[in-house]
Amino acid sequence: MGLFSGRKTVFVDSDVLVIGGGMAGCGATYESRYWGRDKKVVVVEKANIERSGAVAQGLYAINCYMGMQWDENQPEDHVRYARNDLMGLVREDLGYDIARHVDATVHMFEEWGLPIMKDPKTGRYQREGKWQIMIHGESYKPIVAEAARKAATKIYNRIMVTHLLMDKKKANRVAGAVGFNVRTGEFYVFRAKAVIVAAGGASHIYKPRSIGEGMGRTWYAPWSSASAYALPILVGAKMTQMENRIVLTRFKDGYGPVGAYFLHLKTYTENCHGEEYESTWYEGLKEMVGEYVDHQPVPTCLRNHAFLEELKAGRGPIRMVTKEAFQDPHLETIGWENFLGMTIGQAVVWASQNIDPKYTNPELTTSEPYVMGSHATCSGAWASGPEDYAPDEYQWGYNRMMTVDGLFGAGDTIGGTAHKFSSGSFAEGRIAGKAAVKYIDDLGKDTPEVSEAEYENLKQVVFKPMENYSVGRNEIVAGTVSPSYLLPLHGLQRLEKIMDEYVGGISSHYITNEPMLTRGLELLGMLKEDLDHLGAEDLHQLQRAWELQHRVLASESVTHHTMFRKETRWPGYYYRGDHMKLDDTDWHCFTLSRFDRESGEWEMEKAPVYHIVD
Ligand SMILES: Cc1cc2nc3c(=O)[nH]c(=O)nc-3n(C[C@H](O)[C@H](O)[C@H](O)COP(=O)(O)OP(=O)(O)OC[C@H]3O[C@@H](n4cnc5c(N)ncnc54)[C@H](O)[C@@H]3O)c2cc1C
Repeated sequence: MGLFSGRKTVFVDSDVLVIGGGMAGCGATYESRYWGRDKKVVVVEKANIERSGAVAQGLYAINCYMGMQWDENQPEDHVRYARNDLMGLVREDLGYDIARHVDATVHMFEEWGLPIMKDPKTGRYQREGKWQIMIHGESYKPIVAEAARKAATKIYNRIMVTHLLMDKKKANRVAGAVGFNVRTGEFYVFRAKAVIVAAGGASHIYKPRSIGEGMGRTWYAPWSSASAYALPILVGAKMTQMENRIVLTRFKDGYGPVGAYFLHLKTYTENCHGEEYESTWYEGLKEMVGEYVDHQPVPTCLRNHAFLEELKAGRGPIRMVTKEAFQDPHLETIGWENFLGMTIGQAVVWASQNIDPKYTNPELTTSEPYVMGSHATCSGAWASGPEDYAPDEYQWGYNRMMTVDGLFGAGDTIGGTAHKFSSGSFAEGRIAGKAAVKYIDDLGKDTPEVSEAEYENLKQVVFKPMENYSVGRNEIVAGTVSPSYLLPLHGLQRLEKIMDEYVGGISSHYITNEPMLTRGLELLGMLKEDLDHLGAEDLHQLQRAWELQHRVLASESVTHHTMFRKETRWPGYYYRGDHMKLDDTDWHCFTLSRFDRESGEWEMEKAPVYHIVD
């Protein structure tokens, strides 16, 4: 027995186990209870669901609302929109499924107390853009969490899930999960009939623009640590579109959102000479991506491209022209409230840098890349589609079930479905919850069983970094440097450097190629070897150690996918320098990967894109 693996083990039995109590997890919990009145619905969350996940700080807009009650948009319209933005490649069955249910979800939020702004003239929800409605959303997450709390049998906060458990009787079937309490250090074994992974996206796999004391300031939540990908990858679930990382254009240094500024305040951007610049790059872009450049609205990645090229041409900084809009007191209030409701940090940065947008046009920047499945990007797990809508090839069981039996996902976890955002993630959680209950009912007496040997072994593995530390600290040579262990922060910085330099991060202007990716994979392989020697001083660092493990596995997946897709499909997100054009002949397809944990090998394949909506 290891030094720290003698800790108490707590066993929890459940029917549905929801991992991650963010937007999707709360939706999954709510709906599992609705369809499974007699079921034990358990949520496990590494923070506290009251304020956890990407919506922790609140939001100022719900970005996915059709408005079907007023005939504003239909689900098919949203599929066309997402398909256009993702340069043709989305799972239309999954996107349609979310779009047809998302309005009902938003109506529930309002019923539960979320203040949604109304257009005084029409009485309808106040639109920020075609898909966005404006909210007073500082308390968005607590409101949604309350519904989940009432629905769940029990919520286990402060438990970081490190691994999934597999059924000992039947291959390729999930049976639960393990993790540890980040406050008490107790080891948890969750036994479950179905598991829904809703653990958010991935920040900090690429070196962020803010480093040193500012490294916690990223656009995507710094606590989104790729568990949503690593947990399924480790048990052999197929992943899709992991190369489709996202880069955001945001206000500089605070990553403040620009959506309300563009859409509602009608601000615009200009280069350092006060000139419009997007048209300068039109011809070159047309050479690269063909007619996609003429699509409306212009896909997000292509707008990034013009921004980046203008900077490279030496005409930066790019600024947002706010001085005009801010002369209108109403718009000025909206501009500030937008940050106070969801990104207070941007207001603080402006105050600290003497920027009053009424008198100074603030600078924009492009972020480091993030991996996620709910924004203008669609990385994540490959999931079975809805019975009434998905083509046969996209259906192998229950809606939102991955390629592992009993393992479901929602929100950032699921790939191929961009633009679901907070409301769509909750709606997708509901879809997954309903399907998971049906799956459990169909199991009858054939229920999964965890293996004692498996969880006992994992207990040793999970606490190993604490043992490494307590032994290795006797060899400290200076400050925190030990020859025998690697601290989680050092490992994280090494990961970020590899991804940044070799897999298309900020310092290489998002460009990579096959030799760079090959070297990146070699270096990731060496980093993985060293992860056995992670040292954790305390439980907080133990959590950091496991977050790093998850990030590294997700990064490896991103790198393999980027290598496999031999084209530049999303210029502005990343470039394959050796294949600088979009290639619809060979690559109008999804990329799929499967990790074999026995051999450590990744298998790659293509899957067809079915266009269901014309
Ligand atoms: C800066 C920013 C601005 C955004 N703006 C908008 C907007 O204006 N409008 C809009 O509609 N949407 C917006 N979004 C998107 C929205 O927040 C996401 O789409 C949504 O939160 C995704 O839901 P999710 O459940 O997949 O992930 P999350 O809500 O992030 O939840 C993931 C949960 O899993 C937990 N977790 C992670 N790992 C583990 C683990 N190993 N064990 C246990 N628990 C774990 C996390 O703590 C978290 O609670 C924004 C997101 C960000 C970051």
